[in-house]
Amino acid sequence: MANLKLEHIYKVYSSGVQAVTDFTMDIEDKEFIVFVGPSGCGKSTTLRMIAGLEEISDGNLYIDGIRVNDIQPKDRDIAMVFQNYALYPHMTVYDNMAFGLKLRKMPRAEIDARVKEAARILGLETYLQRKPKALSGGQRQRVALGRAIVREPKVFLLDEPLSNLDAKLRAQMRVEITKLHHRLATTFIYVTHDQIEAMTMGTRIVVLKDGLIQQVDAPQKLYDYPANMFVAGFIGTPRMNFFDAVLTGTKAKVYVEFEGNKILLPKTKSASIINIDEYLNTGKPVVLGVRPEDFHDEELFISNSKDTCIEVRVDAVEKLGAETLLYCVFDDGSEEVLEEGQIKSLVETKTPMIAKVDSRSTTEADQKVVLGVDILHAHLFDKETELSILEGEGTKAYVPTVELERIANGQQEDLINKNRTFFERLKYNKQKKAKAKAEAEAAVDQAKVEDVAEGENVVEEPTIEE
Ligand code: ADP
Repeated sequence: MANLKLEHIYKVYSSGVQAVTDFTMDIEDKEFIVFVGPSGCGKSTTLRMIAGLEEISDGNLYIDGIRVNDIQPKDRDIAMVFQNYALYPHMTVYDNMAFGLKLRKMPRAEIDARVKEAARILGLETYLQRKPKALSGGQRQRVALGRAIVREPKVFLLDEPLSNLDAKLRAQMRVEITKLHHRLATTFIYVTHDQIEAMTMGTRIVVLKDGLIQQVDAPQKLYDYPANMFVAGFIGTPRMNFFDAVLTGTKAKVYVEFEGNKILLPKTKSASIINIDEYLNTGKPVVLGVRPEDFHDEELFISNSKDTCIEVRVDAVEKLGAETLLYCVFDDGSEEVLEEGQIKSLVETKTPMIAKVDSRSTTEADQKVVLGVDILHAHLFDKETELSILEGEGTKAYVPTVELERIANGQQEDLINKNRTFFERLKYNKQKKAKAKAEAEAAVDQAKVEDVAEGENVVEEPTIEE
């Protein structure tokens, strides 16, 4: 149980890379916070600073009101789970989970109770005497979670823990981790680049880009009220369609004009435009954002929304079973005239868009169709700043110890190594390398066998502890 306060936190690496800029947020006890963003946006760096594995360049980090900037990782009362499970291959599941506690010199009986309880929570009771190589990827990841659970930390930090698993297992583990969070009632901070994981697991999501927080909100709020075009485009698949547009009309009747269309905005929408005078009839460019599911091709919808219909040409249709995607372009009717010898470009120059319609849709490719726009759910952004210009959109709120054990163990290993003679060390290192390689290969084979036996698709090699 813990709350965290991240206050104006910066990270500048010695290479000069500014990975995190002014990260400020309060995390309440028992929250499940997800950091999400594209690769390199600073998610892991932030998590590692919370863990104490990276130094904080500037700012303050508080856990339960205590400033921990200068507190050693092992003393921060946190546990971290990594993408690579980092299990000790020569130890059983039981010993892997017990190891960190033994290092802390915990009484044997308590270790036993904690390991058994963690195994029960994670459904690992029957695997306690197995070595990691005899486990599937999902089971190994559960052991990694178990190692974190037995420590009973104040905060769980998880760094892309599911990205080594295949899609089916990932979906299962998503649910398991969410259940685990409910059961443990502890603060979780989870890093991922996968927006589905973010949407399904987080109580709040922090969207990051280039080391800067873009928005912090509950998943549905983030989806319904994105603060800017980046968040709007990052969350949701297929992504939101963006159209260059201008606002015309009068304050009582505001139209959005785009791609040769003119759509009336409902009063509730036009009334919520911030600084409307800046945009109305001034030609100042805005961007209209429409999610694919907010286009409709059902007759009933179209006949009920005459003021908000557009005409497009359907280029391709993808039937996905539960829904159908229409890949459309705004067709201005002009035929492309090719000069002699000129080859038609494969790149579509007309504005493309995607509509997600009902699977019973009869729309086919190479058709011109009318689509109704659910304009109440549409978004408007300033083209220059890319910020939403709708009131209430994106209320800006506003963020590890298997590795810590690893560090502790690494140091231990180093000490042991120091006491060996040069030749002993050479032999030891060679043996260690050969063993690690053999174990990795064996584990992959074993996983493949289990894959068939259990219907689980285990593809990743286990990480061998150095
Ligand atoms: P993410 O987890 O979002 O993929 P990271 O936090 O790993 O991003 O990295 C953020 C930025 O910091 C990237 O530009 C990355 O190249 C840089 N970076 C990460 N670790 C280091 C390091 N140890 N030294 C220098 N730059 C680093």
